[in-house]
Amino acid sequence: MKEELILKIKKLFEITDNNICNRCLGRKFSSVLSKEWVLNELKNMNYSIDLDSILDGELNLLRGIVIRNNLNGEKYLNDTGCEICGNIFENISKKDILKKIDEKIEFLSLEYDSFLVGSKIPKEVLERDMKINEELDIESENIKKEINRIVGEELELSRKKEVNFENPDVVIVVDLRKVFKDMGESKGVLKEDNDENLIEVRIQINPMFIEGKYLKLIRGIPQTKWPCSKCKGRGCEACNFTGKIYDESIEELIYYKVKIATNCYKSKFHGAGREDIDVRMLGGGRPFVLEIVEPKTRNLDLNKLSEEVNRYCEEKAKFLDLNFCSKSRVAELKVSSPDTFKVYCAIVKSEDEILKEDLKELKTLNIIKQETPTRVMHRRADLIRTKRVKELDTYFINAHLFKMKVKTEGGLYIKELISGDDGRTKPNVSEILKTKCLCKELDVVEVGK
Ligand SMILES: [Zn+2]
Ligand SMILES: [Zn+2]
Repeated sequence: MKEELILKIKKLFEITDNNICNRCLGRKFSSVLSKEWVLNELKNMNYSIDLDSILDGELNLLRGIVIRNNLNGEKYLNDTGCEICGNIFENISKKDILKKIDEKIEFLSLEYDSFLVGSKIPKEVLERDMKINEELDIESENIKKEINRIVGEELELSRKKEVNFENPDVVIVVDLRKVFKDMGESKGVLKEDNDENLIEVRIQINPMFIEGKYLKLIRGIPQTKWPCSKCKGRGCEACNFTGKIYDESIEELIYYKVKIATNCYKSKFHGAGREDIDVRMLGGGRPFVLEIVEPKTRNLDLNKLSEEVNRYCEEKAKFLDLNFCSKSRVAELKVSSPDTFKVYCAIVKSEDEILKEDLKELKTLNIIKQETPTRVMHRRADLIRTKRVKELDTYFINAHLFKMKVKTEGGLYIKELISGDDGRTKPNVSEILKTKCLCKELDVVEVGK
């Protein structure tokens, strides 16, 4: 070891009055004394340990033993308890922590494959730990990291679960704050009776995501649950104490079976746009992601779930291509790329009589300037959108009725393209046919990229 390092170690002994455990000692110098160095020193010490099976969670302990040995340890005793951690690692056993975690998992009937461990200790203990780093002018990880690593390693080994830093199924928080006494003289001191019940475990269950496409086969169903505006969902006379305006929604149709399969808390439905309640969604369907909040069960058979969901939906809706996906898909759905297009099929009614030839004029519809429609002004910003009609075909039914199939850029309001919305959409079908036209029925037949 270099002279400069030895000086720092001696200063650490001084600051802690020689009361520092091997784990904290090793942890303070983990970034400057490598694992290889530690193993090599242990070999030289003839330390009785199988060097091939050393766990990462034990490495700081061994590093501390080696450091102490290098400095002729007997001079630097460690008898009255570690001033930094209160010897928490000797007083609290991995077994006790694991037992508390198991109890919690069982209590929640929780299934998980991957996890991340977090921990809580009194902030005074952490502050003191960091202050020592400042005094020594070193950088080291804090005690929490050490706890997390030890507990995480044990979960991997004995429970065969996988640690995942990016996207864990659950985050297990081990709260050891109650294990410590109130801070006396800024030292980390533990309560004498280290009762396992002082250890608290909390579990954060991360959401899971399923993507797919839905068809809405009948009119009159909103995409998502629509809470009653009078009672905000609490239930009142106006909504017949259901808390909502519509009995069913696309979201609730899939959620009913998902809830049973995952035992989740709730769901959030993210659609790639949405159609009006009176508009059907046909063709290949509209992409969506269902966010399942706090699922207790994650190992789903999506084929089976899909069958159950579709049976439950009867002839009202259909869910296709269900797949697991990541959270990032939600954001991707919301950003509709410029080349997103939609194909609509509308039944249009005209006030005055029209001739079949008149319909040819509609082919001139191309660039549409559309102010926010009056009917959605209460929830959408008032601005002018410029959208393109890409293709348009018409089918004459009778003098007051025709069918119009139109392919447009996403975001063009079709009902207003037909009515004109008092001149707020220009040009429009009514204007071209020189008679008031209304959209009687509307279907989305394709949502494309
Ligand atoms: Zn310690
Ligand atoms: Zn209500």
